[in-house]
Amino acid sequence: MKAHMGKIFLKNIVIEGVESDVLIDGNIIAGIFPAGIRGSEEFSVEDLNVVDCCSKTAVPGFVNMHTHAGMSMMRGIGEDIVFHEWLSRIWDIESKIDEEWVYHATRVACLEMIKTGTTTFNDHYWYMPMAHKAAMELGIRPVLAYVICDRNDPQESERQKKQCLEMYEEACTWKDRSIFTIAIHAIYSVREEMILWGTRFARERGLKIHIHLSETAKEVEDCKAQHDGMSPVEYLDSLGVLGPDVIAAHTLWLSENDIRILGERGVTCVHNVNSNLKLSSGYRFLYNELRDAGANICLGTDGCASSNNLDMLETMKTAAMIQKAWRNDPSAMPLNEIMDMATVNAGKAFGLNIGKIEEGALADILIVDTDNYNFLSPGSFEANLVYSAHSDCIDSVICDGKFIMRNRVVPGEKEILAQAKTMLYKIL
Ligand SMILES: [Zn+2]
Repeated sequence: MKAHMGKIFLKNIVIEGVESDVLIDGNIIAGIFPAGIRGSEEFSVEDLNVVDCCSKTAVPGFVNMHTHAGMSMMRGIGEDIVFHEWLSRIWDIESKIDEEWVYHATRVACLEMIKTGTTTFNDHYWYMPMAHKAAMELGIRPVLAYVICDRNDPQESERQKKQCLEMYEEACTWKDRSIFTIAIHAIYSVREEMILWGTRFARERGLKIHIHLSETAKEVEDCKAQHDGMSPVEYLDSLGVLGPDVIAAHTLWLSENDIRILGERGVTCVHNVNSNLKLSSGYRFLYNELRDAGANICLGTDGCASSNNLDMLETMKTAAMIQKAWRNDPSAMPLNEIMDMATVNAGKAFGLNIGKIEEGALADILIVDTDNYNFLSPGSFEANLVYSAHSDCIDSVICDGKFIMRNRVVPGEKEILAQAKTMLYKIL
């Protein structure tokens, strides 16, 4: 971890209903005290940044566990059309974009994520070094993949093996908060030999594996036809791919046996509710069953081409409401669990001390302004945050011990948007 010299003292901030003072030292939450017990003058350092947080509440930064940040400028390009038409439009645009596009699009994505309270994002896109550069500039915590997607072309497999190694070597030189992973796009877009190669490559180096899994009913049908009646989960398990180091996006179409396997292997399953709804992939995410089987469950937005935004609060609200509706059970996906899915469960997936506000945790903190009508009720803070408020209640964001948004201002916002605009019209 990169060392910071600065210290931040958050005065009079509410944490789990208690007015507190928080000391952040470098990138760590160094102390949490009842408000007023210890004055900031006690910490006699020249660079102590004292911030009065009266009428504000702290929550852990959200973690978007599955997204494609480089698609941030593809909003609305495929509305009201079926999945295969949508996908061919995406591939058409992706054939025109280059690394400069991805750099600017990722800057826009990071800007949106910061404004909506995401401090860590698990990315799955091309031109990873550009995404790294963008995330470092904006101050967010990125998890960046090398994406294996050979589309059943053995020559492409060989090219990607070489490139994967190069990207890994580059990632080894990072001296910052970034995490490198191996993404295997999906079972239908990667040859079996490459699925095995990517898995081995990741395991030998202690890297997480990020994959799209059981997203559509068609994926399951096709897999069964090709692999002796095995579902995508059973197929990957037969290859030895599934384990606690696997982050599987979607896991929407599952049998009882699939759920048992995902639970026993301790896989992290990422629910991308808005993308699933928009593309008509399905809505019956088997949350209770996966949770009870032992899977680790998180939330993601997916890319902007399908979810149209990267707003985790919107994702949390929709995910909970859909569960309640289709199960006909208002107690489904309760508030404490929806908060955990957006925060601490992601920390578990990465083995990172994030997603909680406690001494020793990494300082990734949202400062929520509760001085408005959304919070003017005796209801719980979490209820008002998830069901009543919008992400504009997030006043300030600290990531890795540094303010990356203050009073809703992200440094360089205008320039980020202006530069991205020129890219947009150059290519589309
Ligand atoms: Zn995706």
